[in-house]
Amino acid sequence: MKMQEYIEEAESALLHTYNRYPVVFDHGDGVRLYDLDGKEYLDFVAGISVFAFGYNNKEYNDALKAQIDKIIHTSNYYYNVPAIEAAKKLKKATGLDRVFFTNSGAEAIEGAIKTARKYAYLKDGRTDHEIIAMEHSFHGRTMGALSVTGNPKYREAFEPGIGNIKFAKMNDYESVEKLVNDKTCAILFETVQGEGGIYPATEEFITKIRKLCDEKDILLILDEIQCGMGRTGYMFAWQKYGIKPDVCTVAKALGCGVPIGAFVMSEKVGAHSLVAGDHGTTYGGNPLAAAAADKVLSMYESTGILDNVKNVGAYLYEELDKIMKEHDDIIDHRGLGFLQGLEFDHPVGDIINRALSKGLVLINAGTNIIRFVPPLVISKADVDEMIGILKDCL
Ligand SMILES: *Cc1c(COP(=O)(O)O)cnc(C)c1O
Repeated sequence: MKMQEYIEEAESALLHTYNRYPVVFDHGDGVRLYDLDGKEYLDFVAGISVFAFGYNNKEYNDALKAQIDKIIHTSNYYYNVPAIEAAKKLKKATGLDRVFFTNSGAEAIEGAIKTARKYAYLKDGRTDHEIIAMEHSFHGRTMGALSVTGNPKYREAFEPGIGNIKFAKMNDYESVEKLVNDKTCAILFETVQGEGGIYPATEEFITKIRKLCDEKDILLILDEIQCGMGRTGYMFAWQKYGIKPDVCTVAKALGCGVPIGAFVMSEKVGAHSLVAGDHGTTYGGNPLAAAAADKVLSMYESTGILDNVKNVGAYLYEELDKIMKEHDDIIDHRGLGFLQGLEFDHPVGDIINRALSKGLVLINAGTNIIRFVPPLVISKADVDEMIGILKDCL
């Protein structure tokens, strides 16, 4: 079938929950994607912050193939070596102590919420604990994750949510402090807001929140599903600020395409929250998914990829700054490493469509922001090529 025929089939078979771009990608290599007609694209999306090492990476593919031939699934009632190895590496990378593997980011958020509620319940026996989340946040589409997502547009039709969620303003400490009371069990935010518009937490905000949480024994949950796994030039974005969360959620690049996420916590929280029977998953951290995470984590250690993010990320920052100066309709540029955004004073859909027709894959964050989340292996030459195409599209 031709590409257009596949697209028509898709529109008659799949539930229309996405306004998809008119392309069927067939295969990829490095930072390049190829559609069914063989047209080549430079990828600055990475499956939205997922494919850190680029497509068709031999070391990664070989590890998955070897695991497929061994065993794909058992059950979490049995130990499996890839999950043990991956957990060990994730502990080392986060500096935290206890790992629960999930199938997705949203599920990692669900687990973090349950952890916080159980931790508080064991202290005071109450069942009306509150969580403080941030406006403009994004934490996923399941009911719990949706309930802590700060965009009312995503939530409204599905109310009531899980309840006892309050929203404060990111980087406005007083707005958080005002909402804290003796029922507060957790403060949750993305270290760098992704979907909501690429807003990094300020150092002042995050350190003050850490202190507040310590004083009141409230759990600090940092959602690193998008900004973690090296995207900011740090393995986890909070490492830039010299603080540590009590619970951290990870997904997206953790599996580099194989569905796996995790929530990771300190020993103290692990020892005083979820116990046998409290939480589970059939697929989460199965041998195939965990083999992907194990290989991915080992590649972060062996490749020095964080240096590339720091160097080329800084270069991307300079180049996007130049573009902003040349265009009056670009009103802001922000972000860290390979998580950057250009904010326009109008919707960016047309620009993204033009880029796609010229062989550049870009994605928005909200309606007015172009989000740059390329594979972490992108080079300065790739940045130059992207900038050249982008200029033609503006
Ligand atoms: C993508 C994302 C999620 C949800 O992850 P899924 O795997 O799509 O469920 C949660 N939080 C953040 C910050 C994300 O970017």
